[in-house]
Amino acid sequence: MSFATDTDLARPLPSPNHGERRDGKRPDFLILHYTGMASAEAALARLTDPTAEVSAHYVVLEDGGIIQMVKEDRRAWHAGAARWQDESDLNSASIGIEIVNYGHDGNLPAYSQVQINSVIALCRDIITRNKIAAHRVLAHSDVAPARKRDPGEHFPWGTLHAAGVGHYVPPAPISGGRFLARGEQGQPVEALQAMLAIYGYGIEVNGTYDLATEQVVGAFQRHFRQERVDGVADTSTITTLRDLIASLPLTRG
Ligand SMILES: [Zn+2]
Repeated sequence: MSFATDTDLARPLPSPNHGERRDGKRPDFLILHYTGMASAEAALARLTDPTAEVSAHYVVLEDGGIIQMVKEDRRAWHAGAARWQDESDLNSASIGIEIVNYGHDGNLPAYSQVQINSVIALCRDIITRNKIAAHRVLAHSDVAPARKRDPGEHFPWGTLHAAGVGHYVPPAPISGGRFLARGEQGQPVEALQAMLAIYGYGIEVNGTYDLATEQVVGAFQRHFRQERVDGVADTSTITTLRDLIASLPLTRG
């Protein structure tokens, strides 16, 4: 069983793990993952194992090779329970790319330049054909902050942005000053939560810096302010978030 890939960049390795996109949804998000396993072979075996019930549209190998497992018009099973803005069926609304990397369990090995070059080429190809907006190119950790940390705080989002992939602003430098952290309550916490929700994170605006808020701030830092990922909303984190919101297109689809 094989198929024609959606892009000349990839070679096919079909996975049985996919279904129909629900409610007529089209791919409107691009979600990036790391495999988090010790080897590419183990990851490819799992992503094609019918009993594992997981998959992705694409896998990018460490040597830059690109594999397509699921056709883009099908619903691959990569995001799980997830949310962004008012979308809670990310699998139906996205294309998923798994990047071979051991991840946090392997102490975050660096992504090689040749692998990142392939990720960029693949993303550009997908984004162009599917008309996916820059601010809808997201980390798995962005859409599932309580469960996921991939592709991790070493993933070079700034490099991708410089190549035309994703939404990004230079992170504000870390300095001293006021910060918000676990246990605090009140209007400043509510304002922070509202800003995170405006950007798209699935967060309850309740005025309490609870575990969920700490996890969302950590996810934000993993993507946009990687120098320190601690779930504490320091001035640099809040300024970076403000700058990102200010640079969103005026009309977001
Ligand atoms: Zn993932």
